Amino acid sequence: MSERETTRTESIRVRDCDVCGAPVRHRTGCKLCKRDLCDSHVVYDPRDPGDYPDQFCGDCWNVGEPFRKRQIEEEQRHEEVLDTIDNEWRLAASR
Ligand SMILES: [Zn+2]
Ligand SMILES: [Zn+2]
Repeated sequence: MSERETTRTESIRVRDCDVCGAPVRHRTGCKLCKRDLCDSHVVYDPRDPGDYPDQFCGDCWNVGEPFRKRQIEEEQRHEEVLDTIDNEWRLAASR
């Protein structure tokens, strides 16, 4: 009986963080630029309280600062408009 050594090549899909090159274990990546991100480079949207908040890289998150401000302002304006309509309704009903 003869024995021989053989090498086996396995290909595994590994993703590296596009920022620091560390292996990415979870499916984390930027929602906007699609870069792969490790745990220390992924930014979770703190406004999303769910289990799967949107993920961003630091660059895209920082660029979004003025846009997030606008979103908050628009949401407030929206609430004010709804309140105004509610009040008009109340007035109309009390005539
Ligand atoms: Zn990283
Ligand atoms: Zn990004």
